[in-house]
Amino acid sequence: MPTRRGMAAAAALAAGVAVLLPLAGPAGAADQQAAGDIVTYTVTGLDSVAERTAVARSGVDVLSAEHGTMTVRATQEQAAELRAAGHELITMADVRKQLRELSAAKKPGDFPEDDADYHNYDEMVAEITKAAEDHGDLVSISSIGTSYEGRDIPLVKISDNVDTDEDEPEVLFTCNMHAREHLTTEMCLRIINRYTDDYASDEKIKALVDTAEIWVVPQVNPDGIEYDIATGEYQGWRKSRKPNEGSSAVGTDINRNFSYQWGCCNGSSGNPASETYRGAEALDQPESKQITEFVDSRVVDGEQQIKGHIDFHTFSELVLWPYGYTTDDTDEGMTEEEAARFRDVGTRMAETNGYTPQQSSDLYITDGDINDWMWGEHKILSFCFEMYPSSGGIDGFYPPDEVIERETSRNDEAVEILLEEVGAGGDTTG
Ligand SMILES: [Zn+2]
Repeated sequence: MPTRRGMAAAAALAAGVAVLLPLAGPAGAADQQAAGDIVTYTVTGLDSVAERTAVARSGVDVLSAEHGTMTVRATQEQAAELRAAGHELITMADVRKQLRELSAAKKPGDFPEDDADYHNYDEMVAEITKAAEDHGDLVSISSIGTSYEGRDIPLVKISDNVDTDEDEPEVLFTCNMHAREHLTTEMCLRIINRYTDDYASDEKIKALVDTAEIWVVPQVNPDGIEYDIATGEYQGWRKSRKPNEGSSAVGTDINRNFSYQWGCCNGSSGNPASETYRGAEALDQPESKQITEFVDSRVVDGEQQIKGHIDFHTFSELVLWPYGYTTDDTDEGMTEEEAARFRDVGTRMAETNGYTPQQSSDLYITDGDINDWMWGEHKILSFCFEMYPSSGGIDGFYPPDEVIERETSRNDEAVEILLEEVGAGGDTTG
C-alpha cells in the first residue's frame, strides 16, 4: 500500500530538493540531543560536493557525513536558513510517522508481515543450517566469535573439499554491519544459496566453487539487527549495542572502529551520540575485533589467503574502494598501479549492476572503515557496495521484500567478477 513508504521524503526528493530529517528512531540519540533549540537532522540528497560544502559552511555542527547524507545539529535560526536555501526540513514527528508506516502489522522481534521474507537472526541461522544440511560436502559453518550481547556470529565457508584448507584463492563477503541495512543479509544469503544450490547445474558456479574458498558472514551486527526489529516499530538503528562509558548514548559505528588510520582524518565522530561514533579506541567492539582476528588468521606461511572482499551496505547504489581516509588516489600502501586496479575492477563490477563506481572518499572522508583496514593491513582487494535504493530518507533502509530477489541477483555478476579477478574459475574460463 502506498502509504507504507516515506512519502514525505520521497516527494521532496522527487522535487529535487534535499531533505532534512531528524536522525534516530524513538529510542535514538536524537531525543537526547534536543538541548535548547539545537536539533539533530539528517540531510539527504546531497549529491554534489558543492551542496555538502554549503551545508557544512552554514555553521551547523556536522556530526557525520556518509554518501548522500549528512547528519547535523542546527539551531532554529540555522534550520530556517537552510530552509530558505531550498532544503526541506522534516520534523521528528514526521520521521516517527514514517517508521510507524513502515512498521505496519509489525510483530515484536520480527519483520512486518508484509516483509516476512526478510530474515531475522534466528531465520538467518536456520537458512545457513539448511544449506549445510543440504550440501554437507560444500558448506561448513563456524563462527568468528560472539557479539557484545553474546550472539554467535556465524561464518560460512563454501568450497569443494570444504573441510580441507586447500591452496586456493579465498574471498570474503560481509553483510549487515549496519543494523537497519537488512537487505544486505539477503545479499549474503543469496551468495550462499547460489553457490550451493546451483553447484550441480551451473558449470560456471561449479568451476568457481572448485577453485576458490568462499567465506560469508551474513550478519556482522546481530545485536543491532535484533534491536532494530525488537519492538512493534522499526528503530532506524545503525550502530552496535555496546554501551558507552560515561554516556547514555549506546553503540559504536562498527564501520569506523577498525584500526587502520582509526580516527585520523575527521571521517568519524568522537561523540558517542553520533551515528558515526568511532568508539573509545580502535577495535573495542567485539564485532570488528573478531573480523580482524579471523582475517589475520588467514595468513598461511606468511601469505594472506583472502584476496578479495565485499562489504555490503545500503543504500545509494555505489561501488566504493579504498582509501576512505584520504581524498588522494595514492598514499602510503597504495601505488598508482594498485589504485588503477581498484578503479578497473570496481568499474567493471559497476557495469554489471548499474551502480556508480568511485573511490570512497570521493563522497566523504571516512576513517576506520573495514575496507581501508582490509587493504591497508592485508592488501585485500576490498570493496564496499551500497545497494538499492539509489536515494531516499529513512524509508531507504526498509524497501519492501518484493525487491529482494531483483536487488540481490543484481549483484550476481559482480560477485563472479571479484572471484575471477583473484584467480578463481580459471580452468573453464581461461
Ligand atoms: Zn552501512
